[in-house]
Amino acid sequence: MALMTGKQYRESLNDGREVYIDGERVTNLAEHPSFKPIIDVKARMYDMAFEDQYKDILTTTLEDGERVSRAYQAPTTKEDLTAIRTHVETVLDDLGGVVYRVGDETIGEMWSLYDAKDRLKEIDPTYAKNIDYHIDRVAREDLFHVSANTDPKGDRSKLFSGKDGGTLLHVVEENDKGIVVTGAKFETAAAYAHQAFVKPTILDWNAGSEKMAPFACGFICDMGSPGLKHICRTSLGTNKTETDYPIATKFEEIDTLLIFDNVLIPWENVLFHRSLESAAYIRSTLHRYSGFNYTLRMLRRADYLIGVALLNVEQTGLTQLQAVKEKISELINYREGINAHLTAAVANAEISPGGLMMPNQSLLYTGRVFALSNFPAMAHLTRELVGGQLAVTPDSATMADPAIQEYMDKYYSVSEWSAEERGKLLYFARDLLNSSYAGHRTTFELFAQSPPFAQQMAVFNNFNAEAQRELVRKAADLKPAVPVTNL
Ligand SMILES: Cc1cc2nc3c(=O)[nH]c(=O)nc-3n(C[C@H](O)[C@H](O)[C@H](O)COP(=O)(O)OP(=O)(O)OC[C@H]3O[C@@H](n4cnc5c(N)ncnc54)[C@H](O)[C@@H]3O)c2cc1C
Repeated sequence: MALMTGKQYRESLNDGREVYIDGERVTNLAEHPSFKPIIDVKARMYDMAFEDQYKDILTTTLEDGERVSRAYQAPTTKEDLTAIRTHVETVLDDLGGVVYRVGDETIGEMWSLYDAKDRLKEIDPTYAKNIDYHIDRVAREDLFHVSANTDPKGDRSKLFSGKDGGTLLHVVEENDKGIVVTGAKFETAAAYAHQAFVKPTILDWNAGSEKMAPFACGFICDMGSPGLKHICRTSLGTNKTETDYPIATKFEEIDTLLIFDNVLIPWENVLFHRSLESAAYIRSTLHRYSGFNYTLRMLRRADYLIGVALLNVEQTGLTQLQAVKEKISELINYREGINAHLTAAVANAEISPGGLMMPNQSLLYTGRVFALSNFPAMAHLTRELVGGQLAVTPDSATMADPAIQEYMDKYYSVSEWSAEERGKLLYFARDLLNSSYAGHRTTFELFAQSPPFAQQMAVFNNFNAEAQRELVRKAADLKPAVPVTNL
């Protein structure tokens, strides 16, 4: 196999997978109104790789000459990291919006696993072989690969016990074909992806005991596997018009409650099993690479905030006010703050334990927290700059009603902006900031790469504070260091 076309991608989803949404079982996923828009987006991404204007940016070659997606080749130089950034920006700009869970943002988890290979090999040599096989396979078969970490947890005291052996996903059987797993995961894009890297989300395996071993498993799961049920949440883009909801109707990424009802995972797809140590290690390094692609999305979101705010204040002449300029500057500071972190993370990139090139970890994780924690304030500032029309403007069908056209023209048109054009900008701003889709997006961003407290832990764990300790020791003339086990 080689690069997939959009048509092949659409067809590949007809594999008998069990997908439920809005009270129905979906039969033709690619044509279903809730899934078609985002499947079209992913299909467009596949097709872009064949176009002359994009192919050198979006593809690269493996050692044996096979052409693969640029997104799927692990970085070994700083130039590779820059190429990944160019890849993401090129795709998002062609699409005209921000999509997150489309493959490139999740594949980095496999490279984190690659970095752990030597340790995993010591535990069991077959794991390392399977990791290599899957990293190669995703690239060669151009698979849409997503990420499954989070179990619906419920009562924490029953996670590892209970009537059915616990609520966390776990192994219920081992046989000559593979392991059989039961449990559930929340997973964006699972219903229209090819495969997921499934692993535990629990951080603390220290209390480890034999009882926890069935839960300590990681594997690649085919999204069409028998026994797998995709139970999807309602789309926020269906039954809406493109003019009124220009983002939700195109870029709605559907989340799935994925049920594993005795799903067989063939041995070649098992990446670790009954290994508490592997489970703990993988958790702590999971976003080493994927955090870069994720934060790049936040950068584009910041660009959209600036564009929306500027066009709105410019059309009414408010840009002449210094106070308004200062507010725009705040948005620019935000945007450039994210940009600076990402740029510096590449400039100061580090060699990973597995010999790959990883973005500077401290700068990457602080950049991710900076982008995420400031987003609500920046969205609010943009709301303020757009003004109340963001929330009170009638929809396009009403605006276009001939019976009221003269009022719309009189009260909505301003200088060169017709009422229709102003409406379009306000609808875009609404979908970026205020619609159900916008709210969902903010929650997605908050949690999609682990919750905020875990993101702060990544900052803490990846900052080497010895220089700061030493500065104070020297300046305060303190006695030589006492070994520190904790900051
Ligand atoms: C839109 C959306 C899409 C998602 N997509 C995916 C996906 O594709 N793949 C995937 O695996 N997951 C996905 N998730 C799940 C996401 O990763 C989890 O929601 C997240 O990890 C938090 O887990 P939880 O929801 O079980 O919350 P809980 O674990 O119940 O935590 C809730 C809150 O409790 C507090 N808390 C809990 N534990 C601690 C602690 N140890 N220290 C301090 N505070 C704590 C925090 O404030 C935390 O935010 C998605 C979530 C959303 C909302």
